Amino acid sequence: MVCDGVSVRWLAGIIRGSRLLAEWHWTWNDLADLIHGVPERPHLPRYIHNPRGWIKARFKRSTGVLPPSKLKIIRQLDSGERARQADGAAKRAAIDHCPLCDEHGWLDTGPTAPDVRCNHDPETGGW
Ligand SMILES: [Zn+2]
Repeated sequence: MVCDGVSVRWLAGIIRGSRLLAEWHWTWNDLADLIHGVPERPHLPRYIHNPRGWIKARFKRSTGVLPPSKLKIIRQLDSGERARQADGAAKRAAIDHCPLCDEHGWLDTGPTAPDVRCNHDPETGGW
């Protein structure tokens, strides 16, 4: 429990001192997320030995311009971009190693046939 040994008055003092609400316009949800470890920790540890120390450390880590709500969005964009890059690299490698298609992944089906995307499977001839 984060609240063991943490009084409302003490916590209110920390929050006021951080000026995250007044100066940086964080929401109460941002503050709750910050205290709970978002976004680095998806779940609050079950047991926190020193709740006051934990909370102080969390506030010390905070960056006014980057409330947890924004950090979450940035993380999502990052992981989406990494997934896209990995996907693109895998497609590139498949095309580079495929003897059936051209450098853009198209099968040569002759001048009258429609363009066909290669599946890079020699057993099916790319179809
Ligand atoms: Zn291919």
